[in-house]
Amino acid sequence: MITLRGKGVSEGVAFGKLFFTRDHTANAVRTASGDAELELRRLKDAMKLASEQLEKLYAAALDAVGEKEAEIFQIHQLMLEDDDYQDFIRNMIESEKVNAESAVSAAADNFAQMFSEMDDPYMQGRTVDVRDISGRITRALMGEEDDQTSLSEKHIVGAEDITPSQALQLDKSLAMGFVTVGGSQTSHTAILARTMNVPAVIGVKELLCPEYEGLDCIADGFTGVVYLDPDEATIALYKAKEAELREKARLLEQMKGEKTATLSGQQIRLYANIGGLADIDAVLANDAEGVGLFRTEFIFLESERCPTEDEQFAIYKEALERLKCPIVFRTMDIGADKQAPWLSLKQEENPALGLRGARLCLARRELFEAQLRALYRASAFGKAAIMFPMIISKNEVLEIKEIAQNVRAGLTESGIAFDPSVELGVMIETPASVMISGELAEEVDFFSIGTNDLTQYTLALDRQNKELDRFYDPHHPAVIRMIRMVAQNAHAKGIWVGICGELGADMGLTDVFVEMGIDELSVSPSKILGIRAKVRAHP
Ligand code: PEP
Ligand code: MG
Repeated sequence: MITLRGKGVSEGVAFGKLFFTRDHTANAVRTASGDAELELRRLKDAMKLASEQLEKLYAAALDAVGEKEAEIFQIHQLMLEDDDYQDFIRNMIESEKVNAESAVSAAADNFAQMFSEMDDPYMQGRTVDVRDISGRITRALMGEEDDQTSLSEKHIVGAEDITPSQALQLDKSLAMGFVTVGGSQTSHTAILARTMNVPAVIGVKELLCPEYEGLDCIADGFTGVVYLDPDEATIALYKAKEAELREKARLLEQMKGEKTATLSGQQIRLYANIGGLADIDAVLANDAEGVGLFRTEFIFLESERCPTEDEQFAIYKEALERLKCPIVFRTMDIGADKQAPWLSLKQEENPALGLRGARLCLARRELFEAQLRALYRASAFGKAAIMFPMIISKNEVLEIKEIAQNVRAGLTESGIAFDPSVELGVMIETPASVMISGELAEEVDFFSIGTNDLTQYTLALDRQNKELDRFYDPHHPAVIRMIRMVAQNAHAKGIWVGICGELGADMGLTDVFVEMGIDELSVSPSKILGIRAKVRAHP
């Protein structure tokens, strides 16, 4: 048995074989081959194999999900056969006498760059595809199995790091846990793991040892310990722990249907955070009273291109209709660690301080207006509210309100139904917005405090930087005082205030939040019943 240690960031216990996922083109090592003939033959064989895999994937996808979804594999096939792409690789092998892997890797970089600089959003979307097919060829060259075809059994995903878009693409019925070398407590991948209720361990330094691949693995998302090839006693211990967790969950079932109110009768709304339609079942299963944060950007990250207004409308409408409870939609908070390749955002020195959230929405107004139209159209089918992330000034709020007003006017003119009473709110996640929360409260219907970013910006700590995890302290008095100040300013102006950052689920603070008069806590679905029990025990 091998024991590795990291940090648990999503509670639970996962069993499965360890499976590594990696960006193969990034790992391709450049070596001088000297034998161009040999490398060209290897390339030809790898391309043939990749092409056969794509044919199989197309046929399987056609059966499973239909023609529209399967089309992507035909596009990959065409890209693979593209003369320019193939010539680039062959020329490099012949002229620079390098191995085929590094020529494929260079082609991936070259074509990805070219696509990302195109104006047409469809062509920008091909950036991901050219990387994907290049990775497939590289895997074939290295004699490794195809990622997608080998993922047929329950497993634990191991990686250097997992981006939010990779996490969203994993088959959730098979990926039982995440274990990574990098990552941080409030990175979006850790948040996604908690929303999906998938145990996750980060910061496991020695993880990526090739001999570990395929070993039986147990990942403990509480303690951050990972066991490979576990012995009988450890398996028995964790089976018992799993049974205990099931029993705890069974006991919490009693909280279903109960009011979230303290013993003295103070009510608090207990809502769930979601990233898409896939999380709706968990919201219903855990008896959340509503959704306090729908991270709509995940719809954009999951997509190969910009989702159209109609596609977005269909998703928002379905969420409202299936949940039949209030939903606070956050407009796309893209930027920093949440990158949509088709948007081709410029690389930034400090992405967390860059063009993200509301700033991006105001810079790319056509995207923002389409999203607002889709959200307002969906509001005719349930109780929707809309909030805006990363606000720092009253001017931004005024500009956003004017855009929303124009969107409403356009819909009215076209005779399209929407709910005119949709509440508009802002996220309080920058120190600037805290300090002007009194003024902001005059402009909006509610506040939702994003403690993940508020902690990052208040403590000047990059939430993505795993080296800083031990300094990242959301209990810091500066953060707690800011939350109190925002609650006081909101209530003084008669608007409601919620917490939708991860701190909302911190049961060590539930009593404090109740005492501050926080009106709504929005947390991962799996935390709902435990917090309800905690609130009900409060005097
Ligand atoms: C936050 O910052 O607390 C928040 C809820 O938004 P996100 O984690 O998506 O940045
Ligand atoms: Mg945030």
